[in-house]
Amino acid sequence: MASHIVGYPRMGPNRELKFALESHWDGKSSAEELQKVAAELRSSIWKQMAGVGIKYIPSNTFSYYDQVLDTTSMLGAVPPRYNWNGGEIGFDTYFSMARGNASVPAMEMTKWFDTNYHYIVPELGPDVKFSYASHKAVTEYKEAKALGIDTIPVLVGPVSYLLLSKPAKGVEKSFQLLSLLDKIIPIYKEVISDLKEAGASWIQFDEPQLVLDLESHQLEAFSRAYSELESSFGGLNVLVETYFADVPAAAFKTLTSLKGVTAFGFDLVRGSKTIDLIKGGFSSGKLLFAGIVDGRNIWANDLDGSLNILKSLEDIVGKDKLVVSTSCSLLHTAVDLVNETKLDDEIKSWLSFAAQKVVEVNALAKALSGQKDEAFFSANAAAQASRKSSPRVTNEAVQKAAAALKGSDHRRTTNVSARLDAQQKKLNLPILPTTTIGSFPQTVELRRVRREYKAKKISEEEYVKAIKQEISNVVKLQEELDIDVLVHGEPERNDMVEYFGEQLSGFAFTANGWVQSYGSRCVKPPIIYGDVSRPNPMTVFWSSTAQGMTKRPMKGMLTGPVTILNWSFVRNDQPRFETCYQIALAIKDEVEDLEKANINVIQIDEAALREGLPLRKAEHDFYLKWAVHSFRITNCGVQDTTQIHTHMCYSNFNDIIHSIIDMDADVITIENSRSDEKLLSVFREGVKYGAGIGPGVYDIHSPRIPSAEEIADRVNKMLAVLDTNILWVNPDCGLKTRKYTEVKPALENMVSAAKLIRTQLASAK
Ligand code: GLN
Ligand code: ZN
Repeated sequence: MASHIVGYPRMGPNRELKFALESHWDGKSSAEELQKVAAELRSSIWKQMAGVGIKYIPSNTFSYYDQVLDTTSMLGAVPPRYNWNGGEIGFDTYFSMARGNASVPAMEMTKWFDTNYHYIVPELGPDVKFSYASHKAVTEYKEAKALGIDTIPVLVGPVSYLLLSKPAKGVEKSFQLLSLLDKIIPIYKEVISDLKEAGASWIQFDEPQLVLDLESHQLEAFSRAYSELESSFGGLNVLVETYFADVPAAAFKTLTSLKGVTAFGFDLVRGSKTIDLIKGGFSSGKLLFAGIVDGRNIWANDLDGSLNILKSLEDIVGKDKLVVSTSCSLLHTAVDLVNETKLDDEIKSWLSFAAQKVVEVNALAKALSGQKDEAFFSANAAAQASRKSSPRVTNEAVQKAAAALKGSDHRRTTNVSARLDAQQKKLNLPILPTTTIGSFPQTVELRRVRREYKAKKISEEEYVKAIKQEISNVVKLQEELDIDVLVHGEPERNDMVEYFGEQLSGFAFTANGWVQSYGSRCVKPPIIYGDVSRPNPMTVFWSSTAQGMTKRPMKGMLTGPVTILNWSFVRNDQPRFETCYQIALAIKDEVEDLEKANINVIQIDEAALREGLPLRKAEHDFYLKWAVHSFRITNCGVQDTTQIHTHMCYSNFNDIIHSIIDMDADVITIENSRSDEKLLSVFREGVKYGAGIGPGVYDIHSPRIPSAEEIADRVNKMLAVLDTNILWVNPDCGLKTRKYTEVKPALENMVSAAKLIRTQLASAK
């Protein structure tokens, strides 16, 4: 029985690629040095998979930045502004597209399906001249072959590529991207013939778009594309790989009827319905690549359970037609558990990172062919059992409290406009109140203090003193700037999820569990392994210390349950919403303790609420219901006079605006300045919004300092669609990545703009 891996992380076990890339970008190392690190990583990954016994080892899943950008290079679809003159695309053009250069900004980046990986969006139009401009796929195939390893080269499939693109600037928004199929197929054919000539006997096309809600003309494009490609396949085995959800029935039919395709890959972890479709009929003679080992999570596979599923699939498709695989590329999980020094052995036994998943895939394949490694399976079964029964996982009281939330509703009893009146009596704010989103610049000094405290190099006393000093500086600065609702600046926080996770029970942290987010950037999500509870207050000390330094209202600052959930590796032994409810209850305790400590304004950030939206429309409602419910649970118990804020880092929520309203926050601050007023169009179209709202008045992602006039202009535009008495004035997001030399003048201008408009409004009365 054969084994296959869809794709593998590129960064290396110790983020070697990240450091090599950044050093090269900083001009500290040559292109050759970067290439050397990359080649070593590729070679060690291939050798590792070959050593384990994997039959279908992928190549071309390595990337210096992103696999979609690699495809753009392969097709020579470089936007004209990068002045590429043809020929093989080198680092200069490639990294300019990815990151911009001194004179031209980067191409847009967006989320890869529902993962936290971001790809570079191709910009296409009728005038793009495609050409075979990057031979990376064949070069890497040959490179592996020279090491004695025959790989299966992986390409982003032609239809998914086009559907992931956007019309270039100046091209009609309604331009049919799929009309370019005829132009890119010839390039794919050249690549295929190149690969064949180099000796490849297999090729893998990733077509993840097949799991989305597609229209019939989009499905037809798949049939057309593969019919066209068929003539170049001759003798080649072709795998079309899907992932991230089950394949809808219509797409399943299209997929399994594709011309020239000999094998199909499915995500059987997220796609439980696909199993039924396969049972309902699978083309005889074709191969089924069964993605049974989860590429999106860090949990050890339940090998006995998987083996049963695989056996039932084998009964349908036939003995030699089943290949054991991963649910998707392992790009979305951490690299190697071997490097974990912080985790204890019990928790470690429950986990499996990319390197371990490769071993699991192989063990399952061997077991199917009658060579079961009994010791490996029984160790796995023991770990599964320990995870099920461990007292560290289950907390009866939490389970009970969370179960009681289901089916019931949790809302503040008074409606929002009455609450706002009650709050205003207490807070006495001017119209167009000014505030910031929470964090202030994280200086080198601040990072050093936190690091040394963590490493126990400075005492708690010294640490508290330093943080208090920082808070006091930030408070003083805000008073000088004359901001109305203050923040403490979050100097004690490294990360908005980690800070809370470290204080909640049920969370574990890795030392090296990095996952690529984009380019050289990686994140290290916490692992939620058990029932979540809050043993002690988490923010009350710092918030009340800060409130004690000023007469102005000080916002308490929390991360919301949905964001904590979406930015963590979540347990797979209970539904996501149950875990979310547990976190919500923990945050609720914190909210109420802040209120008791006389914090009258509390912000609960839900930066990641939208990104948890499922891929398929049919599942949106269910997600939004429990996500919004979780948010309301956190603050349903506060008094009318306590003002609840929330914050979101995106504004493309036209489609979920009713859910946002249903969160029932008193004030919402949102990103606005980067998205050409997409947000305001919602209100222009007549959506009624009665709560306070602060669409960001300037972009904190850029070092540019906006003038007061520019900010006032923005505010005036907002006033054209929103009532004066609900509008707040604030930046787009937290200020932690900026320098004080940028933040001070920008906030000064922001406050001047608010004051200017207040005066204008007063005299217009
Ligand atoms: N309160 C957080 C901050 O200001 C919010 C960050 C975010 O939205 N990503 O840093
Ligand atoms: Zn934000």
